[in-house]
Amino acid sequence: SHLVPSHIAAIIPYPPGKPIEELERELGITDSIKLASNENPLGPSPRALAAIREKLAGLHRYPDGSAYYLRRRIAEKLNVPMEGVVLGNGSNEIIELVIRTLIRSGLEVVIPNPSFLVYELAVQAAGGTVVSVPLKDFTIDLDGVLRAITHRTRLIFINNPNNPTGTVLSEEAFRSFFQQLPRDVVVVIDEAYIEFASRDATFAGLDFVDSQGPWVVTTRTFSKAYGLAGLRIGYGVMDPQLASFLHRVRQPFNVGTLAQAAALAALDDDAFLERSRAVVQEGLAFLYRELDALGVRYLPTHTNFFLIAVPVDAKKVYEAMLREGVIIRAMNAYGLDRYVRISVGLPEENERFLRAFAKVLRQLD
Ligand code: PMP
Repeated sequence: SHLVPSHIAAIIPYPPGKPIEELERELGITDSIKLASNENPLGPSPRALAAIREKLAGLHRYPDGSAYYLRRRIAEKLNVPMEGVVLGNGSNEIIELVIRTLIRSGLEVVIPNPSFLVYELAVQAAGGTVVSVPLKDFTIDLDGVLRAITHRTRLIFINNPNNPTGTVLSEEAFRSFFQQLPRDVVVVIDEAYIEFASRDATFAGLDFVDSQGPWVVTTRTFSKAYGLAGLRIGYGVMDPQLASFLHRVRQPFNVGTLAQAAALAALDDDAFLERSRAVVQEGLAFLYRELDALGVRYLPTHTNFFLIAVPVDAKKVYEAMLREGVIIRAMNAYGLDRYVRISVGLPEENERFLRAFAKVLRQLD
């Protein structure tokens, strides 16, 4: 292990999860439900599935390394140049590519905390320095972010809506932030959950792309509202010049044929997107009402997941819920020891969660 550089050995790994089948085997149950990873409870977009079937016979060929049709369609939809669209193996890969392109030892990356854990892990892997800025009232503190910038800062991550808190930034806050931002930093606006946010509460990071200003990278994914998490496909929209640097760093065939075809079909599956939004909105209304009735405190959200306050260590609640066959996420790894995070499920899943949660709270009391 002396062969491994110290900045790699120091990384605390992303919380591993066992396969559901294995968890069920250990607990002697067969019908668990998973509300832990902010996935789409409806399953994949049906149009995406049909597109995948059509491509199966061509799998002996390499994928289109330039993802030409998908980039062109994304660019058309968002009204940006297609040279600025970069596809990744999940938006995770875009996050990693931006970091590998810009960061080396001695350079700093400003990351609100708690936020998506992968930012920090990727910066550490690249040998960079993480500068953490605590949230304020569970919301990203943009003034705090500005104060954290030094001459070594190259990159800033803003997750909007923010995982795990589900909060969004106001347009006004964003505008003022960009006015004060130094020009020689890059800002990543991670919009993995933007499709769930109400239209008047948010606006895209794209609105702030300005040829005079600093480089802004907006990342989005097919893993959430489009229901394609298992395929691993996401993208970043950025200045074409920055995109050209990311292309030098990325693997030539980083996104598979099936993922490209499915994403292209899903992108135009408006009916599915509407159903995904509706199932989340209806699920949230139900869960809020029932949690209110139980007297349980939670954080209202702009996404498909939310935080619930628990009276004991969140890991204990996670374990007790697991025994009830309901997989949720304990927030200990995010520094929130008294919170669990749940994703909104189908109506019957939400009901089952509530029954189990009420029982577990009584047990642990
Ligand atoms: N950003 C945020 C905030 C996320 O929560 C996730 C998924 N958990 C991602 C990015 C990455 O998603 P993917 O790689 O599946 O596109």
